[in-house]
This record gives sequence, C-alpha cells and structure tokens, in this order.
Amino acid sequence: MTVPAGIDPSAAPSGTGCVECESAQGWWFHLRRCAQCGHVGCCDSSPSRHASAHAAATGHPVIQSFEPGEEWFWDYAREDYLDGPELAAPTSHPADQPAPGPRSRVPSDWQRHLH
Ligand SMILES: [Zn+2]
Ligand SMILES: [Zn+2]
Repeated sequence: MTVPAGIDPSAAPSGTGCVECESAQGWWFHLRRCAQCGHVGCCDSSPSRHASAHAAATGHPVIQSFEPGEEWFWDYAREDYLDGPELAAPTSHPADQPAPGPRSRVPSDWQRHLH
C-alpha cells in the first residue's frame, strides 16, 4: 500500500512512556505514538495532553495508539481515523505497564484529573 503523508514506518518509538511526562515527573492515562518521528506522548484525556501538543508544535499530523491491542491511526489535520502501515516495533507499551501510569506517580484520585 502507499504510505500516507505524515507516516514513517521506520521511525522507532521514543520509549515506553510519555516523553514530557517522564521528564516532568508526571503521569498519563493512555499513550499515543507520533507516526512520523516516533515521539510517545499522552492522550487528550490525560492531564497534560502531550501527544496533541507534539503534533501542534511539530506539524506531525498522525498518531497511532500506543496501547496494547489497539492499532488505529488518527489524523489531526483531517480530524479523522485513517489506515496506515505496520510501524517499527514495538507498536505498544509493555502489556504489564499499567494505564494510567507510571504506577508510582498516579494519584489515588486520578479519575478526577482526566479531561
Ligand atoms: Zn504527557
Ligand atoms: Zn513527531
């Protein structure tokens, strides 16, 4: 298939957690991976919404869910789902890594902090 604009299947994910939350000692709900550069950020329900912020700051338009068992892509420019190729492994965070996470930094009242 033709690879859509904004997707680089060879870009490896940046890690197993949100880049900005890890550096700020924050926590996230679900994780999203930039399909262009591999940046892993937190979803729009998370307190800090770093995946959307990355897309806005860089112009990288497409994310893929980084949750185990989820393969959908989202295009911020078109505001719609799209089909994409298999990205460089791993395509999700480890299955034993909790959501929300990381476990040590999630507050007991985390649900009150979701958007
Ligand atoms: Zn984050
Ligand atoms: Zn990116």
